[in-house]
Amino acid sequence: MDGIITHDLVVEPQSVNDFKGKVDPDWCPGCGDFGVLNSLRRACVDLGLKPHEILTISGIGCSSNFPGFFNSFGMHTLHGRALAVATGTKMANHELTVIVTGGDGDGFGIGGNHFTHTARRNVDLTYIVMDNQIYGLTTGQLSPTSNKDMKTKSTPFGSVESPYNPVTAAIMNGATFVARGFSSDIKQLSMLMQKAIKHNGFSLVTIFSPCPTFNRDNDFNFFKSRVKKLEDDDHDTSDWKAACEKAMEWDDTIYTGVFFQDKESESLGDLEPILGKGGPLCNRPLGLSGEQADRIIAQMM
Ligand code: SF4
Repeated sequence: MDGIITHDLVVEPQSVNDFKGKVDPDWCPGCGDFGVLNSLRRACVDLGLKPHEILTISGIGCSSNFPGFFNSFGMHTLHGRALAVATGTKMANHELTVIVTGGDGDGFGIGGNHFTHTARRNVDLTYIVMDNQIYGLTTGQLSPTSNKDMKTKSTPFGSVESPYNPVTAAIMNGATFVARGFSSDIKQLSMLMQKAIKHNGFSLVTIFSPCPTFNRDNDFNFFKSRVKKLEDDDHDTSDWKAACEKAMEWDDTIYTGVFFQDKESESLGDLEPILGKGGPLCNRPLGLSGEQADRIIAQMM
């Protein structure tokens, strides 16, 4: 069928190449998303994960084409709805490693409601956001994380809006792992992704992933000259107030690293008693006769 990409999932990954999808990325030369893709491939190799154990889910946007470029199960869903679909799949099969990928417009604008409540529910997902501070796929409109005064196609005289801060928002919404990376620092980013995937609960890794085509303000050099690692600053990741203070710095220093982690976190799956016995729901018998199942399906069609 058109639109379905079948990856080779039955491999014992030895290198990042084993996590290459059947489709090559169609991103512009210099797009930060290449570094994010390479970092996730590296993280999965280092964690010893296998493609058939992973599900990548995305919404819509340049970065949301990700599942086609990554060797795992994958779903390319609706604009802003990736976290809702991911919550359902994680509840249906809580043994899968579910990784959600997308951009700032998709995740913090169109899907802002889902971002709030997936964090609050502490669903055991890893959410990787490639934040380029612009809508790239639609050729350069203001996004929730665009800077104030920024001139874009939709704000030709400069934006009057204040940017959204995904790190402080995630912490306030109840996320139990919150980190920020930079797409050109693959070593640090891969380490952050590994910690996020291992964390039990909702994990956000938001990433400065410059769009050289439509965002000339916040380019590679802007971040390269400012990013500073939290681990070099002796930051206490259990201190959410310190995490928020560090996350709000946006001047000559912009921090990357793990801002906050609740190491005692209990995920939604831990708290749902039905998931604690009998394995994933998707493998259990429905408990319905064929006739009952047909009737329910007919009612829903
Ligand atoms: Fe990347 Fe921007 Fe090109 Fe989209 S438009 S692929 S975000 S560089």
